[in-house]
Amino acid sequence: MIITHTISSLKEELTKHKALNIGFVPTMGALHNGHLCLIKEAKLTTDFVVCSIFVNPIQFTNSSDLEKYPRTLESDIKKLEIENCDLLFLPSESEIYRQPTSLEINFPYQNSIMEGKFRPGHFNGVAIIVAKLFNFVQPQKAFFGQKDLQQCLIIKQLIETLSFDIELHIVPTKRESDGLAMSSRNVRLSENGRKIAPLLYKKINSISTNLQDFELEKTLAIEFLNSNELIKVDYIEIVEMQSGELANHFDKGKKYGICIAALVDNVRLIDNIITEF
Ligand code: AMP
Repeated sequence: MIITHTISSLKEELTKHKALNIGFVPTMGALHNGHLCLIKEAKLTTDFVVCSIFVNPIQFTNSSDLEKYPRTLESDIKKLEIENCDLLFLPSESEIYRQPTSLEINFPYQNSIMEGKFRPGHFNGVAIIVAKLFNFVQPQKAFFGQKDLQQCLIIKQLIETLSFDIELHIVPTKRESDGLAMSSRNVRLSENGRKIAPLLYKKINSISTNLQDFELEKTLAIEFLNSNELIKVDYIEIVEMQSGELANHFDKGKKYGICIAALVDNVRLIDNIITEF
């Protein structure tokens, strides 16, 4: 696997492979099997796979979250090599942000709901880093995890609005055997937190079986989860997948994403499932 640290060496390497169909997987490292599913999918559907590892400071709304972000570079490199990833882009912060960024990319609607509402500034940071990386790598296909469903909606909007000639692939969430969505944050869960964390997935699954009564089911699920002293639900919401907007009615044949965010023993977890009405 080629490893590059600078934008110029990345571009130099990529010009050698210009004729190929390039697949791109942006990550913040601390790689687990969820990330590796994106690499596998990219390997299956493109000819040259670029992964980036960059812990993007401007998408963190809370500095202690940034400091606590797990960093496991050596094992990340080994995992990527096993998956036959072709190139790893590993830039420093000063390489990416050569001068302070004053540009803001605003998603007024998405910023008013779910992660956008609970993490002000987060999607601006995500959009800026992804747009920069898209410009550096210029891939034909980009791979993102359904695990961060609202992020996928933002990237879709970014690609359409800024006319990136990139196909977005959304890869299903990889889970532990008890249903917990894999996440770099799971290592921070306490023993008790880890035991109860799968309840989030269980609850959104049970809501999906009775979408018609979504509001009632949602209230009951929040009450149930919050009755556990280690859990504090931030939200349970349902979005219509095509428009990316919160759904207030359900149409036959349309897809809906049921999304949850909660603190589990002080670790903030998100999850979602996509279901058809
Ligand atoms: P991160 O390093 O957390 O920014 O994630 C990098 C990419 O991996 C994003 O597109 C995530 O949505 C995706 N990802 C994270 N966890 C999972 C998972 N459990 N299954 C599938 N994709 C995931």
